[in-house]
Amino acid sequence: MRVKTLICNCKGLSTSFENADMNTLPFKIESELDVDYAIVHPQLCGIAGNKVLEDVLRSADDEPDTLVIVGACGPDAQLRLFERVLRKTGFPQGSFLAVDVRDATNEGILARLRDKIEKSACPDEKRR
Ligand code: SF4
Repeated sequence: MRVKTLICNCKGLSTSFENADMNTLPFKIESELDVDYAIVHPQLCGIAGNKVLEDVLRSADDEPDTLVIVGACGPDAQLRLFERVLRKTGFPQGSFLAVDVRDATNEGILARLRDKIEKSACPDEKRR
């Protein structure tokens, strides 16, 4: 199983993200979790952010065991915001994991991502 993580900083304006240090977070994720990479984008639901997400989802076309984890706003909001990209790319929805990273420090975000990865590695756990 390969894991790619994208973290959204919600334009750097939302107070829900002020407890996280987005400059050090990608390195911490890559150091402490078994992921291919972690990137931070300022607005994944914007035009450029959608293109980044689309590129990542398309790059997983030949990697059927790849999970793409997006840490951003709540899972329901993410599925709504990213519905068009998911539909356009045909990326399997079960391999797209939305994690709410609001109101968390870097350690809290790491814990949420770790929990999602562990549950996804276990076939008995629901992925969303
Ligand atoms: S994807 Fe969610 S967290 Fe990111 S900018 Fe859009 S609303 Fe904010």
